[in-house]
Amino acid sequence: MNVTEFESVPAVSSDEAPRVGTVVMKFGGTSVAGPERLKNVARRLVAAREEGNRVVGVLSAMGDSTDDLIALAHEVSAAPHPRELDMLISVGERISCSLAAMAINDLGQEAISLTGSQAGIVTDTTHTKAKIVEVRARRIHEALDDGKIVLVAGFQGVSTAFEVTTLGRGGSDTTAVALAAALGAGICEIYTDVEGVFTADPRIVPQARKLHAVTYDEMLEMAAGGARVLQLRSVEFARNHGVRLHVRSTFADGPGTWITEEDERMLEKAMISGVTHTTEETVYRVGGVAAATLFAELAAAQVNVDTILQSGDGIVFSAPVGDRAAAEGVLGRLGVDWSARDDLGKVSLVGAGMRSHPGIAAKTFATLERLGIEPEIVTTSPIKIACYVGLDDVERAVAALHDAFELDRPEAERAHA
Ligand code: ADP
Ligand code: ASP
Ligand code: MG
Repeated sequence: MNVTEFESVPAVSSDEAPRVGTVVMKFGGTSVAGPERLKNVARRLVAAREEGNRVVGVLSAMGDSTDDLIALAHEVSAAPHPRELDMLISVGERISCSLAAMAINDLGQEAISLTGSQAGIVTDTTHTKAKIVEVRARRIHEALDDGKIVLVAGFQGVSTAFEVTTLGRGGSDTTAVALAAALGAGICEIYTDVEGVFTADPRIVPQARKLHAVTYDEMLEMAAGGARVLQLRSVEFARNHGVRLHVRSTFADGPGTWITEEDERMLEKAMISGVTHTTEETVYRVGGVAAATLFAELAAAQVNVDTILQSGDGIVFSAPVGDRAAAEGVLGRLGVDWSARDDLGKVSLVGAGMRSHPGIAAKTFATLERLGIEPEIVTTSPIKIACYVGLDDVERAVAALHDAFELDRPEAERAHA
């Protein structure tokens, strides 16, 4: 059994002592898609301010505008220069924030929009998937002290070499959590286009249930397994800094899902938190190279390796589809025999209760067998079983596992008084 090692997260130092009553509210792309939705977000931020909170809003780019900007770059250049790509795609979040600030001012509250750099988000120098290394929160504190609502452009920062960087797809989640940690906010609210974290992607399994609570470790596995509702790194940050996350709907009131420390009551009724899937990984098979050499080179090329399996002198590993060019570059340079498969998807069953319940693996394999699906690769951690299956089988496998583990029942929600 292999334990998933998630990366350690840097300490974020705030320049000043935390203040009580700070809330960080993050709104995703669908939530700010268009003027009416932006005005709705402005109203939510104003309401939080009028309740007496110090309010920080972190916004994503409007709708699909990040995708549109990336597509535009590729129309101009076959391999856009990473520095320039970051200059381009960091713009989407600035548009949302400045528009929201205008709308808030019209509602009678003062607001100021800040770029990631102005907000003090300092990152390493890796363009398009930079990591936050420090948050210098002084400017935000000053604006909050003045009673302003502060809007921070998500997904971006300034590198230690003074360049504009972005944090990887979904990176506004990480901006929000890092700010919550640095500002000493007790809670970080993630407003999105679904009502919370579900037992499976509700777009694939309509009878999926909204979870009341998920542990940090489960959410890490779910995010790594493709539940894109939270960026993986935001969950690492939240866990390491004890920031409680509340994932909820922008378009409806009512409670969403809490991501928090494990509480026995969560697992009493439902040991499985969900079934996740991703079709965004490439699986490589490599021969004739020492693992130490291969993975050192992949790391140096910023390839985010997920699954690793070694048997005999063969090594199998997976990495995001977006890292394919970098991975191929490494394999080419090493001059080794390799092949890549992009016809596999990963289906993962996640649950902290798995640790103490034998038989989960047996039931998983029996369920897949009934569908005539034989997983190509299986990897596990104490709270996860992940199976790589043919792309065409992914959705069937997710639905069948959801059904087999009875995740459509009310108990799966983990609601407790
Ligand atoms: P935002 O733009 O608000 O950041 P995202 O598109 O990044 O929103 O993430 C929300 C989407 O994540 C949902 O619309 C849903 O389709 C998808 N998703 C995948 N798995 C899950 C899950 N287990 N629970 C909730 N949403 C999920
Ligand atoms: N706009 C960025 C993206 O689409 C960041 C985010 O939405 O979190 O990935
Ligand atoms: Mg997102």
